[in-house]
Amino acid sequence: MRTRLSICRRKVRYASAEEACEVAAASGLVLHPYYCDRCWRWHLTSRTKGRRRPAGQPKPSLSA
Ligand SMILES: [Zn+2]
Repeated sequence: MRTRLSICRRKVRYASAEEACEVAAASGLVLHPYYCDRCWRWHLTSRTKGRRRPAGQPKPSLSA
């Protein structure tokens, strides 16, 4: 998928995937580096493909 220019412009750019990974690890968050075809640099995203639910996590009850 293409990166939206508006997203690209407000994101931090990293020169390499390694650099992006280091920042992601230091942040303590689950972040994934991806290559941006707008600026030809790397960004971090917290989004994963699809809407996966962590395995083993029960569905929220709707009965309440
Ligand atoms: Zn970009």
